Amino acid sequence: MRSVFFPLGLSLALTGSALAQETAQVRMADGFDYPVGRDGAKAYYRARGFRVNGHVGEDWNGAGGGDSDLGDPVYSIAHGVVVYARDYRSGWGKVVIVRHAFFDNGQTQHADSLYAHLHDIFVREGQQITRGEKVGTIGNNRGMYDAHLHFELRKNLQVGLLRTSFARDLSNYWDPTAFIVTRRELPVPSLTAAVPINTFPSVAPPPLPNPLVGGASLRPQSPLRRSAPFKVDRFEDLRSP
Ligand SMILES: [Zn+2]
Repeated sequence: MRSVFFPLGLSLALTGSALAQETAQVRMADGFDYPVGRDGAKAYYRARGFRVNGHVGEDWNGAGGGDSDLGDPVYSIAHGVVVYARDYRSGWGKVVIVRHAFFDNGQTQHADSLYAHLHDIFVREGQQITRGEKVGTIGNNRGMYDAHLHFELRKNLQVGLLRTSFARDLSNYWDPTAFIVTRRELPVPSLTAAVPINTFPSVAPPPLPNPLVGGASLRPQSPLRRSAPFKVDRFEDLRSP
């Protein structure tokens, strides 16, 4: 056993080369909504849908087309915890990923919802958020696109922003609308459930101390893609003033 210290003061025990999986308690989803519009997304349409081995998300556009939806609110589709909230630049722009625990088919399951090309981000990594809470606004990624929300729903909690490393199929993704329409209301067997955190492959393994340079950490191999481990708010913090 050895202990590795992360930049944010978080420490984890290593057994061999396998990282012990961290978990956090999050409020269980009591159902899922669309990420745009308070009223079932009536003022929006899907400009591009979900396709296996193609577009593994949905593009939500305002009914007015063009940039008419620029700055419109984007909502968390369910209760959960923010596991990514950054400007990744490239084709993604500003991205938020929320991790959810939900009860379906007799068991607790997990999913990540991803909101991309955002104009603003209103949440931070580690934040516990509720269904319908604003995570940001619709953007156009610095003019790269007509404003729209690129929205994904993942089964696989490791995808993060390294989508090229994973099959673009139903083993890793849900068809977002098909998922939502059948799960508008879900049973909640307990208020909270454990979800794995810090699961994106670009964060593991962390840089190890380099004995050749006085114990200073090696630089991450890919700083752009590296999402540092973060501290998750305790669930109770949701209810503090
Ligand atoms: Zn898209």
